[in-house]
Amino acid sequence: MADLYNFTDDEYCIIDFLKKFVVIKYGNFRSFKLKKEKDKYYKIITLYAPRLYNENTIDAYLLKNAYNIYKMGYKCNFPKINLLPESHNYMLYLGNVYKIIHNQLLDKPYYIDNTNNIITSKYNLNIKENQDLFYKKQAAIVLQERLYQYAEKFNLNVKNVKIRFYKSMWGACCSNKTIMLNEKLILSPIYTIDAVICHELAHMLQPNHSKDFYQTLENMYPDYYKDYIWLNIYMKI
Ligand SMILES: [Zn+2]
Repeated sequence: MADLYNFTDDEYCIIDFLKKFVVIKYGNFRSFKLKKEKDKYYKIITLYAPRLYNENTIDAYLLKNAYNIYKMGYKCNFPKINLLPESHNYMLYLGNVYKIIHNQLLDKPYYIDNTNNIITSKYNLNIKENQDLFYKKQAAIVLQERLYQYAEKFNLNVKNVKIRFYKSMWGACCSNKTIMLNEKLILSPIYTIDAVICHELAHMLQPNHSKDFYQTLENMYPDYYKDYIWLNIYMKI
C-alpha cells in the first residue's frame, strides 16, 4: 500500500529521534495510545499501535504528538543508550563522539577540532583522571559563558556560579542567586545545556516547581522539554 504521508528530512530526524525512546507495541487496538509505564528500574513511554496501521502512519502519529511525547519523557527514566564505540580513543563532548589523539609535543593542553570531531591532547585522554580534568576545564568555560549570556538576555542578576561534579542533580538555584551546574553537562549538546541553564534561571523568578514555574520556563525557552530529554536518553547521573 502506498504511503499516505510524506516527510521532509527534518521531520525524519524528529521521527528517528522519537523512536530512540518510544517503545512501539502492535496489537488489536482500536486507536493509538501513548502511555507512561513503569517497572522496577525504568519509567518509559509505550505507543500502542493498531496492527492495521503501517509504519508510515505510525511515523505521522509520532510526529504529530512530538511535543506531548517530549513532555511525557521529562520525568522518565529510560534505559540508557551508549553513544561511545567499544574501542578506546573516543570520548563524548557536547553531545558528539570525538576521536582522541595523544600528542605530547602539542604546544597547548588541548586542541579541539569541532569540524572533524577530533580532540588532540598533550595528555592521554584515555586515562580517566585526564579526561575528568578536560571535562572540568571545558565545563568551566562553556557552561559559565552560556549561563551569563542567558542571564543577560533575561535581565537576571546571577551573583555566583558553581560548576562542580554533583552526584544527583544537573543544576540548582539557591535563594542567594547562586546557580549550581553539574560539570557533567559538558558531555551533552549545547541545546541541552541551555535547557538546564534556563531551568535554573527560571527559578530566580519562580522558586518552586509550580505550574507558573513551567510556564515561565517555556516562555524563556520554548523547546525546553525537547532539548532536556537528551539527558534522560543518554546520561546516567
Ligand atoms: Zn528546578
